[in-house]
Amino acid sequence: MVDLQKLNKERIFLGNLTAKDDGKKVVVAGWLYDSRDLGKIRFALLRDISGEIQVTATKGEVKEDIFKAMTSVSRESVVVISGIVKKSDKAPLGREIFPEGFEILAKAEQPLPIDVSDFSKTELPKRLDYRFLDLHRRRAQAIFKIQSTMMQAYREYMVKNSGIEANFPSIISSSSEGGTELYQLKYFEKNAFLSQSCQLYKQMLACSVEKVFAVFTVWRAEKHNTVRHLNESRQFDYEQAFADEFVVMDVLGKVVQYIISEVLRINKSELTILGLKLRIPTVKYLTFMEANALAKKHKIKIDESDLSGEVEKKLGELYPDTILFVHDWPLKGKPFYIMPKGDGLSCGFDALYNGMEITSGGQRVHLPDLLIERLKAKGLNPKNFESYINSFRFGSPPHSGWGMGVERLTMQVLGLNNIREAVLFPRDRDRLTP
Ligand code: ATP
Ligand code: MG
Repeated sequence: MVDLQKLNKERIFLGNLTAKDDGKKVVVAGWLYDSRDLGKIRFALLRDISGEIQVTATKGEVKEDIFKAMTSVSRESVVVISGIVKKSDKAPLGREIFPEGFEILAKAEQPLPIDVSDFSKTELPKRLDYRFLDLHRRRAQAIFKIQSTMMQAYREYMVKNSGIEANFPSIISSSSEGGTELYQLKYFEKNAFLSQSCQLYKQMLACSVEKVFAVFTVWRAEKHNTVRHLNESRQFDYEQAFADEFVVMDVLGKVVQYIISEVLRINKSELTILGLKLRIPTVKYLTFMEANALAKKHKIKIDESDLSGEVEKKLGELYPDTILFVHDWPLKGKPFYIMPKGDGLSCGFDALYNGMEITSGGQRVHLPDLLIERLKAKGLNPKNFESYINSFRFGSPPHSGWGMGVERLTMQVLGLNNIREAVLFPRDRDRLTP
């Protein structure tokens, strides 16, 4: 049995091996794959979360049992290897290890149910059935390492910007927005729902603590099955008091730029694995009318109160690597809580990035009477929103905010063609496991 405490002290991560380790004896651990038997010499690749190394064993120079194990151990089995590291021009990764100790910690059963090579030939649904194994793939690991950087960068930026991180309830008594379908659940003697956004809570909070942010899970019981929607997703939420929509669009542009600059700084090797050349996006503002006029010029059918997927795509082609704010949105196309602007327009906006919506936001209605009027105009009953309306009766400043999908942003930054690639364990119309 391997002494795991000792291993933790001695082990060196493959990504940390440098020229100063050449000629030294090291202990490494990870998953073994790609064994090749060339008669007197055997190769395999060892992978850990940080990198890879070639393992080289020559008959006669290495213990016989290690020599045998090198090709007989099944692919993706877990091993601990001690041996001498050497720089090598021939090894695919520039360095190799000559094993002196070789211990198998866990054998992988064969055959593997999915193809775990970087460019897996297994279709996405099957890979998701075996997500735990799919995460042996460096491409899958790269996506989630980058997403981890994105989450960290979001928090960092917001905290530096005087934001207060908040947690909100996920069990709610009624719809916060009307419209979107909710999942119902039993709550003792009552019915309750899973939250589809933290809209109302973040507003209440901004009206006291001024700048508030959250990474919040939302559930939407939408029946459709698309490449851009999940039924459970995460949102980067932000809300700020004493702000109109342009103030919070500016914050959004800057936080997305910061997130991407951090990915560029921290995740160079992951970007290489994914074959991506990321650029820090620029920011561009268009009115809804201007955006639709552009689409019309390119003969794309337009909608009066929304941007269709086709329009979003065209705008992405016209403005690549750009956070595109589409503001002065028709009031008809925005929820009741968005502030009207006159002339049928609103203080609502969407942000698009590389051809898809990543964020919706706007200035909110903070005046109770106007809120009642807006609810009625949307065919909603103000009685059902009483506690929400009442929360603005005792000194609530004007405020604005937005919500940005974590998986949607990941998808657009990394150019993934299905949002399920950007979530570890997707929940969609057909999927509840793993
Ligand atoms: P879409 O038009 O793309 O369906 P939406 O306008 O319904 O999105 P919002 O309510 O504005 O979505 O939510 C804010 C953000 O949350 C979106 O801009 C998107 O990034 C993300 N988002 C919304 N719905 C989903 C979903 N079903 N799955 C994953 N992310 C979502
Ligand atoms: Mg939206």
